[in-house]
Amino acid sequence: MNQQTNMKPIIFSDFDGTISQLDVTDLVLTQLAHPTWREVEQEWARGQIGSRECLERQMALVDTTAKELNSLVDTVPLDPHFPAFHRWAKRRGLPFYVVSDGFDLIIRRVLKNAGFTGPVNNGSQLFSSSLKIRGRRTEPSFPYAGPPCEHDCATCKVEVIRRVRGSASPVIFIGDGLSDRFAAQAADIVFAKRQLLSFCRENVIMCQPFETFADVEAQLAAILEGIPGDEVPKRRESKVRTRKLKVEVAV
Ligand SMILES: [Mg+2]
Ligand SMILES: [Zn+2]
Repeated sequence: MNQQTNMKPIIFSDFDGTISQLDVTDLVLTQLAHPTWREVEQEWARGQIGSRECLERQMALVDTTAKELNSLVDTVPLDPHFPAFHRWAKRRGLPFYVVSDGFDLIIRRVLKNAGFTGPVNNGSQLFSSSLKIRGRRTEPSFPYAGPPCEHDCATCKVEVIRRVRGSASPVIFIGDGLSDRFAAQAADIVFAKRQLLSFCRENVIMCQPFETFADVEAQLAAILEGIPGDEVPKRRESKVRTRKLKVEVAV
């Protein structure tokens, strides 16, 4: 990065399916919830309910103890390139935050299993839904649902980004799913895979396709090297990024 510039990039990343290799909430529901959780999921997919109501109703169908939940969570693999990417971002002085509809208890455990020793506090490094387990009952709460959010998000990623970024720019967002679509619209540089990639393509939102955090690191390093500080890219008008994309993404 050019040190003379005012550019202060900031990175936000989804967790489920982005940092973790699968959607941990889906795994928990598949293994531990009454099968009617899928009907609730369909209501969400059709846009009839937001992710907050969806998760609240689905978690009420979960029957588990903390011990059972932990042993299931311990089977969840991370993108193997994520730890190296996280260290790279730290070395580069790039602030990195996880924003997730998923649950703090689970995210913290997955990250610790992957060797993270530092704190993973909901409200500083992480902004996500919260989960407590009492006996066999789960108690979800949604501290970052945001003040009345039009989409009824479980975690309003747009609101978290708005609050956390301050004057930082460009905002870089990394994600994989439909719960990332509003954040992708609010970010300057988007890395997308799976459903988020399809959504971006359908809605003409500039994005960089990726498979792993190794791709994100390589492409982001090139982007940050290539853009002078007074030419921070704006969504939909980045010829710089379009050209970069062709060079950097050899599919
Ligand atoms: Mg996801
Ligand atoms: Zn929202």
